[in-house]
Amino acid sequence: MRYISTRGGETASPSEAILRGIASDGGLYVPEEMPKLSPKDLQDLSAMDYPHRASEILARFLTDFTKEELLAYASAAYGKTKFPAEAAPVKRLDGETLILELFRGPTAAFKDMALQILPYLLTASARKNGAEDTVMILVATSGDTGKAALEGFADVKGTKVFVYYPADGVSPAQKLQMITQRGGNVGVAGVRGNFDDAQTGVKRIFADREFAAVLKEKGVRLSSANSINWGRLVPQVVYYISAYLDAAALGAVKPGETLDVAVPTGNFGNILAAFLAKRMGLPLGKLISASNENNVLSDFIKTGIYDRNRSFFTTVSPSMDILISSNVERLLWFLAKGDAASVREKMEKLGKDGRYSLTVEERAALQADFLGGWAGEEESLAALKAAWREKKYLPDTHTAVALAVLEKLRAGSGGKKTTLVAATASPFKFSGSVLYALDGVRRPSSPSLGEELSDLTGIQIPPPLRDLDKREVRFDRTVTKEEMRLPVLELADKGSE
Ligand SMILES: *Cc1c(COP(=O)(O)O)cnc(C)c1O
Repeated sequence: MRYISTRGGETASPSEAILRGIASDGGLYVPEEMPKLSPKDLQDLSAMDYPHRASEILARFLTDFTKEELLAYASAAYGKTKFPAEAAPVKRLDGETLILELFRGPTAAFKDMALQILPYLLTASARKNGAEDTVMILVATSGDTGKAALEGFADVKGTKVFVYYPADGVSPAQKLQMITQRGGNVGVAGVRGNFDDAQTGVKRIFADREFAAVLKEKGVRLSSANSINWGRLVPQVVYYISAYLDAAALGAVKPGETLDVAVPTGNFGNILAAFLAKRMGLPLGKLISASNENNVLSDFIKTGIYDRNRSFFTTVSPSMDILISSNVERLLWFLAKGDAASVREKMEKLGKDGRYSLTVEERAALQADFLGGWAGEEESLAALKAAWREKKYLPDTHTAVALAVLEKLRAGSGGKKTTLVAATASPFKFSGSVLYALDGVRRPSSPSLGEELSDLTGIQIPPPLRDLDKREVRFDRTVTKEEMRLPVLELADKGSE
């Protein structure tokens, strides 16, 4: 199978697409044709454990990998050492709501689902293409990707990883997780600004050919672990298929019956994976994109106009504080039925004017699959409290946004279709805000809030989040947007042990 850039003619094999991360014309790679799942395929998959499901599904997309290779990677990525219990368990919240828990991995956020397997896919892609350079992963993170990438790539031979986070835009636990990261091939720095500043800075580095030449001299090539990389996105398709099968096993859907999905959305990677699963033939109904106050996506879905010219809000769901959602570009390619010129034009408008509009047909196609909604701080914290009070389920602040949006949509339509809610992080990553939701008391940020939340709820702190404040701080640097190349060069020069 070939992959094609959303902006033009450039094509690549699956391993080339993963190795390059982003196409040279600035576009994102998409599969030229979509592999299909038959009811028989679903039936076969339902008997398998998560690593086998993953290898079967990945093999449909990554045609220059063998199933054996993929099974070895999936077993290492999703096995008991990384996911001590199940990898992506489905739980019942109530009669018509299911929760897909995606945070049972080593960093307690859903980014692990992709970033535990990406290092295997990426180093294998380098081998398959005879690339001998060290691959340096450069990440802009809104909080969770950074740690998940650091954890996935730490001490992986032939790789280095550098992470930029917005200095004042992540939770104390998220920050501690990153700045205490172990490993000889890693680096971390804060950027003064918000996530869009960090992401724009990283994109600029990727586009800088002179800088790439300097790195090449040092035997280093840059690659991305943001969800612009196909290797980051495709593992996420797996858990929607797996969850559908688990929902059927629980009796929540009959085989072939559609299941709605609600996803707390930021960069649009997670929900795009649900869209791809639907395109493969998985019986999904509406894909509900839930936003916080940074509601550019819910407006886009309602109006067909993407407009980033609006205030940026810092919220209690920081991983969704995004105004330029990279993966929308892939969606545009599908909406325009593969018309790269139309995608290019919209991306140019976005760069120049900060906005673009869909055609009438594109908007209709968008609304056929997606519903958008947003919830403010009060509403999502109330949904969090209600889930705990009424259902004894403790969501994190991002998952709470999806619960609040789902509740509003249901109240509006009067319908109660069975819906799968993606739970994207452990509540203990955002203990201060979760405590505030539960008892209305604002606390100064402190590393001991996790223990307080644990005492209040009787839920144990997940092991990856215990004793964060007792670990050695290794990376306390912050830089301005203009200074972002320097730390990358320093890491390039550093010998890996
Ligand atoms: C990354 C993240 C999101 C947003 O996911 P996208 O794929 O960027 O839309 C939501 N919740 C949490 C906890 C996250 O880490």
